[in-house]
Parts: sequence; C-alpha cells; structure tokens
Amino acid sequence: MNLYDAHPVYLTNSLSGQKERLEPISPGYIGMYVCGPTVYNDVHLGNVRTFMMFDIVTRYLRFLGFKVRYVRNITDVGHLENDADEGEDKIAKKARLEQLEPMEVVKHYTEGFHEVMRQFNILPPSIEPSATGHIVEQIEIVKKLVANGLAYEVNGSVYFDVEKYDKEHHYGILSGRVIDELLESGRKLDSQDEKRNKIDFAIWKKASPYHIMRWPSPWGDGFPGWHIECTVMSTKYLGETFDIHGGGIDLKFPHHECEIAQAMGANHKRPVNYWIHSNMLTVNGQKMSKSLGNSFLPRELFAGTHPLLDKGYGPMTVRFFMLQSHYSSTLDFSNEALQAGEKGFRRLASALGIVKKMTYSGTVGSSRDSALSNTLNAQVESLFAQMSDDFNTAKTLAVLFDMASRINDFKSGNTPLSSVSAEDFERFRSTFIAFMEEVLGLTEEETQNDALLEGVIGVLIDLRKKARTDKNFALSDKIRDELKSRGVQLMDGKNGEMSYTID
Ligand SMILES: [Zn+2]
Repeated sequence: MNLYDAHPVYLTNSLSGQKERLEPISPGYIGMYVCGPTVYNDVHLGNVRTFMMFDIVTRYLRFLGFKVRYVRNITDVGHLENDADEGEDKIAKKARLEQLEPMEVVKHYTEGFHEVMRQFNILPPSIEPSATGHIVEQIEIVKKLVANGLAYEVNGSVYFDVEKYDKEHHYGILSGRVIDELLESGRKLDSQDEKRNKIDFAIWKKASPYHIMRWPSPWGDGFPGWHIECTVMSTKYLGETFDIHGGGIDLKFPHHECEIAQAMGANHKRPVNYWIHSNMLTVNGQKMSKSLGNSFLPRELFAGTHPLLDKGYGPMTVRFFMLQSHYSSTLDFSNEALQAGEKGFRRLASALGIVKKMTYSGTVGSSRDSALSNTLNAQVESLFAQMSDDFNTAKTLAVLFDMASRINDFKSGNTPLSSVSAEDFERFRSTFIAFMEEVLGLTEEETQNDALLEGVIGVLIDLRKKARTDKNFALSDKIRDELKSRGVQLMDGKNGEMSYTID
C-alpha cells in the first residue's frame, strides 16, 4: 500500500470550514498554488510563517509519495496600496521614492526574499511565475470576462461586476461575506463613480501619463489588477480546477474571494477544491505592525538587534518555534517563548545528532522487551497520524520529544539496544530522522560550535574518568554538576564509559 493510502490526509478546508479527506484530482498528484510576496520591501515574519506552512504541506505530501507541483508567484505589478483599487502601485511607488527602475526594486527584494527562504530551509516552489511575465494572459482573461458580460470598461479601466456575478453564482462563498451587507457598508472612494457598485473591483487599470509600469491593451495603456494575476498563473500551470490554494488569512477577503469569482466567471468551473489559510503572528499578544513598532525583520531576529528582543535566535530555532503552533492558530512572539523554543530545539537537535550516529548492536538471541517494541512502533505511527491530521506540527513535535527521550536512554545504555529487534530500531531511527529533516525541515543550526562543543565535553569526560580512577570523587562530582548546571547531562554507563545529552 502507498504511504498516502495508509495515512490519508485530512485538512481543514476554508471553503467548507470542515475537516475533509484530501482526494486529489489525479491520483498520486497534487497541484498547489500559494500567493507569493509583493516584492517592494523586505519579507516580514508573518509572510515567513505562511510560506513555512506551505513548505510543510509540500514536504509532507511528497514524503507520503505524492508528486506535488507547487506554484508560488512573485507579485511585481498591480498590488495597490489598499484593497479598494486606490493608491499607488507598491512597486512603482518604491521605484519613484528610490529613483530606481521598477525592475531594480523587484530584483533586489526578490533576491532578499529567496535568501530568507533559504535561511529558514523553506524549499523553492516548482514554478515561481511573475505577474509581469503574464500580462498577455491577464489581458486575455479580462477580455473573456468582458465577453461573458461580467466585466465592464470605463475610461480605460475594466471592473468586475460583482452584483451581476452574484446573480448567477455566489459571491462570498469563501469568506462568508454577504453581498447586501457589502453593498451597504464600505467607504466612499474617489474612483467610485467609475464603478457601478463600490464592491466591484478593477481587473485592468488605466495608467496615468506618469505611471511607469504600463502595457498596451484593447482599453489603452494600463496595468492588471492584483487579483487577476493569481487566477491567471494558478490556472495556467495547474489547470482550470486544481487541488489546493493557500495563503495567509489576511488574503481570504477580498483577494481569494475575487480569485474564485474571476475563475468561475471566465471558465465556469470552481477553481480550487481545498483552500488553506494560515493564521497571523502576534508580538507579546499584539498584532505585528510597523505602526506599533513591534514588527521585526528576519535579520533583526537572527542578530537580536530589535529593541523588543533580548538576544538573537538562529533560523532553525525560529522554524522550530513556529512549528510548535498549529498553522490555524495565531502565534505569539515573546522573549520567553523564544528562549523556551531555543531550549526545546536544542534537545531535539541533540537527539537527532545522536541517533544519526547510532548503529544497532544486539544479537538475534538477545532478550527482547516486546512492550518497548510496541511503544517504538506506536510512536512511529503517531508521527504519521499527527501530520495527516491537518498537518499538526505541534503534536508531531510532542511525539518527537518522546522519541528523543528514548534515544537518550539508548545512548546512555539505560535501555540496551538489544532489547528491541534490529528491524524495529531501524524503523524508529529512520522515521525520527525523516520527520525531523525531510518533513519538518529541521536540521542542526549552521554553526561551527557543535564540533567544538563535542571536543570540549570529550576532554572533560576524560578528566572525570581520570578523577574516578584516582578516587578523587570530589572532582569527579564537580565536573558532573558543573556540566549539568550548563545543560549537559553526563551518564555513567557500564565499564566506566560515559555519555552525555544536551538539554
Ligand atoms: Zn494571490
């Protein structure tokens, strides 16, 4: 049986609000689209959390044996300063302020984004299309929506007619917004006179004479609306209906609602079977935002240079820390929580280092502990069960901690390896390593200090052995206690051998 048949995945579909079994359109294949960054400034930690979440989805589905085509776009045009088709294009504004070509802005921040993704061990998508690379397709779909009677042109801009669409389909299917309430509420806007209704949204915008990012179209020079690019790039690479669409919860409305309307309006098909939304980050219980001064960048987090941080944290520690919360809950950053995360990650990384070097020793006739074998096998099963239950990384980590304790027992000799069969041990060992490295993407921090630390502890172990041979127990105990107070636990094994674990 395939791994994915043995461990079917259940995920919370934002469209239904229910946990549903993942049934791919083509058996063995998954197509997934995630809204990527708008590359006009440094990627912030909230975005990192979103992309890390979909990295986990991709990694786990691949681990189960699916072939995953993961498309994550780069927004390099069309994202205006607010959701109501008002304000400047974010990229064009940055280019104007810094006296750069828009594509210089795009290249600079795209490279910075990729670097941050690499630091967090977030794998690149299969395809990373950009909005400016798909202007022709965007014009085509706008033409189609006009031809289908769901969009109208006014003064060189084209708007999607939400009220008309709602008569045939259902606007609000994802967000639960009710169209009558949307028509009632909302601010009055300058460009509203162009729109038939204030909830209509631009799919093509006329460029003013000063607008630098512009393309010729049947409606004159202009640029695409933000929502249309995702409809074009998702369906171009994944088909008119595909499996999973993801993004941060802040994109659910209006962005994703508009994507559904555009795709339904153009292709008469529901574009996405499963919608997944990841929740937000908070700092000390408050929403992370520039205006509150509590928003820090990944590099400030690594270096500990932001006033709110006591010290810096490595990317793997932060990755571990983020995975300790389920993606659908908010995640709160605080010094205390990060420090606890650092300790926890060190413990798991230490167990990973130990188990990778461990080789089975035990003979065929050794006395076996069948209860222990059952426990090990149950832990292996539990890893799959937790990840298949809506990608529950928090509970998966809890199982890995239990397994880490077992690994330390094997290492110290408290539990002889020979009490389980080679087969059971190997399954336990390889699954622990695979869930740490392949599924959760947790590797040891990139640091030179590990080998150094190992050497120094080795020297102290030798000194302690010598002290014991000399019957200098005061010194022997001092070495053990001092190391313990620093989080290094020495364990005395048989024949005077000593091993250690790091808390
Ligand atoms: Zn999008």
